Amino acid sequence: MSDEKKLQAEEFLTKAQNILSTDVRFIKGIGPNVAQHLYKKGIFKVEDLIFSIPKAYENRGNIKKISELQEGEKAAVIGRIKFSSEVITPNGRKMWKIILSDDSGNLECVWFSWTEYIDLFKEGNEVCVFGTVKFFRKTPQMYHPKIVKSQDISKLKLGKIVPVYTISDPVDSSMTARAIRKVIEQVGDYIFSFVPKSIEEKNQIMPLKEAILKVHIPEKYAQSLDEIEQAKKRIIFEEIFRTQLALLLKRKYVIDKKAQQFFVSDSLLSFFFSTLPFKLTSAQLRVIEEIRKDLEKPNPMYRLLQGDVGSGKTLVAFVACLICSAAGYQSVVMAPTEILANQLYQNFVNFGKPLGLKIGIITGSTRTSERKELYEALQKGYINSLVGTHALIYDDNINFKNLGLVVIDEQHRFGVLQRISLINKGKEYSPHILVMTATPIPRTVALTVWGDLDISVIDEMPPERKGVRTKVYYENEMHIVWNEIQRELIEGGKIFIVYPLLKESEKIDLPSAEKMYKVISEKFSSWGVGLIHGKMPGDKKAEVIKDFAEGKIRILVSTTVIEVGIDVPDATMIVIEHAERFGLSQIHQLRGRVGRKDKEGKCILVIPDKISENSEKRIRILEKENNGFKISEEDLNIRGPGEILGIKQHGANELKVEYIKDLKLISFAREIAKSIANQDVIEHNDEKILFEKIVDKFLSDKIPFTMSG
Ligand code: ADP
Ligand code: MG
Repeated sequence: MSDEKKLQAEEFLTKAQNILSTDVRFIKGIGPNVAQHLYKKGIFKVEDLIFSIPKAYENRGNIKKISELQEGEKAAVIGRIKFSSEVITPNGRKMWKIILSDDSGNLECVWFSWTEYIDLFKEGNEVCVFGTVKFFRKTPQMYHPKIVKSQDISKLKLGKIVPVYTISDPVDSSMTARAIRKVIEQVGDYIFSFVPKSIEEKNQIMPLKEAILKVHIPEKYAQSLDEIEQAKKRIIFEEIFRTQLALLLKRKYVIDKKAQQFFVSDSLLSFFFSTLPFKLTSAQLRVIEEIRKDLEKPNPMYRLLQGDVGSGKTLVAFVACLICSAAGYQSVVMAPTEILANQLYQNFVNFGKPLGLKIGIITGSTRTSERKELYEALQKGYINSLVGTHALIYDDNINFKNLGLVVIDEQHRFGVLQRISLINKGKEYSPHILVMTATPIPRTVALTVWGDLDISVIDEMPPERKGVRTKVYYENEMHIVWNEIQRELIEGGKIFIVYPLLKESEKIDLPSAEKMYKVISEKFSSWGVGLIHGKMPGDKKAEVIKDFAEGKIRILVSTTVIEVGIDVPDATMIVIEHAERFGLSQIHQLRGRVGRKDKEGKCILVIPDKISENSEKRIRILEKENNGFKISEEDLNIRGPGEILGIKQHGANELKVEYIKDLKLISFAREIAKSIANQDVIEHNDEKILFEKIVDKFLSDKIPFTMSG
């Protein structure tokens, strides 16, 4: 019996998998033309189509007399075509225009593409049009209305709610609508949820297929917009649920290995704190406690530490390493760049001195002879903490005696996480993992993409840190900016000037760091001007930074290499040209480079004279807002989580961004996924079989997309 059920489940899922992954162009009734349209929207497979969500819904209103039409409303009009002809607009574009009249007045309708309607356009025809009313010099007009013969008026589904897939192009929208109907007609039986039926019922979750029908064919299956909204949420829920389930299962089978337990005495920590020239902030103390508890557990810590630039994450990371060292285990700290690795190393050496800890560093610039010594010292356990870049992971010669903790700094793409096993070289125990980032990822996003990663937040700045004052200038105000720079130099300040590009580009007309370096060197020749960028060799960079720190150079022209962690404590001003090219969080990171001590920093953002209202509004947020989390939320609102996290989003997913902000929905999906992943909540045996098969077929090799960066 059970074998038979297994076979059935297997057969059903194999078929479903085949169908759902079929290229849309192979669906009956979808030709290559429509398929091309869908590809452009990021819809390739049947599954993409079913899971896409209409951009909007239209409530097809009543039929109106032309004289009753109001500006901006959607309405249908029945009338006779009085005039019909192709016309050319003043800027040379071809369009088709008809004038429709009923006994109350005239309505102008125009189309920019009209091949599908051409048969209807004969003068004298009685037709019905449906569209948005716009008045032009007292004449009502409709752009690209729907049009049918008046006897076919039922085709317009007036009085019903219909989906709109592309707002700007009704032809495209109706093509998509038709394609989706075709697909649902043909494969509807294979739409299934990963959520078992009994769990759906218990939690009053709408069946997935019902939701899909309501969303795509509302005129038949939905009674109200409200119902459609619920159905949309159900579809998004399914997607979040699947991601969460994959993450949780991954955690269950991959991450939930054994780890070493580290206990540390209060007296050691107090001693270390007493060696510092400052008091820890209460946020630092809280986060340290969170980490300390994690390290006492027999499973690996898997924690994200978030804190604004300058909030003191390095110290927290050091304490984690200290706890590990005190228990006799080694730690490794990885940074994305050599500059940052060097700074971490310096900090660690300073912190570690009073404790007698041995810190090592390996980067691309480490000499072979030094390397050899380090390898040996590591293997023998003479080194407590090793600092380096992410490239460490690939260094086959590195063998720890006993690795207990991995710290990854300023890494939000997480590709490194996946490869941690590399560095642990098949040891039975997994190291604890701490990831630090200054890019404040809103909790909703973190949950969606990382699922079960614990999060600690340092939400407090060290007290003597003065903020940064930010001001936006237009390009035509550059003379003021140059004056500000001059004044800053006279007052003894040090300045970063950041450009979006290193070299001139043929494709984009933007000033480059290289070119502006020449200009600025001439303008401020008596002050010392340097250039730094990502393509420079490590020792060159270090040299320039040293000159800047020592004041031999007072202006540092740069690309965004300084984004990740150049710590020059007394830089006082940062100027960012073409600020509109940067993400808000990125600028926030950049300006975190200045005003780190007791003096308020200055940040000048330069934007083009001609800039869209929205872009300008976006940049000006930085004049008012200093909280990295709020800024990141704004970035999320404006650009979507994809860009923040480096996930490429395709068009079909744009709308889903809205829902990624819905914390309630995410938590709900997570709860359900958790209950299924961790316990045996599926009671019905057939369901259990089906669910296990689903996991096997659809999730077992599914690595969450952010893990692959
Ligand atoms: P980030 O979080 O950006 O990595 P850092 O750890 O580099 O910040 O800290 C920035 C600066 O603040 C460093 O010079 C560090 O020594 C200092 N710092 C850290 N914690 C405190 C504190 N509690 N009080 C004062 N200064 C601190
Ligand atoms: Mg840091």
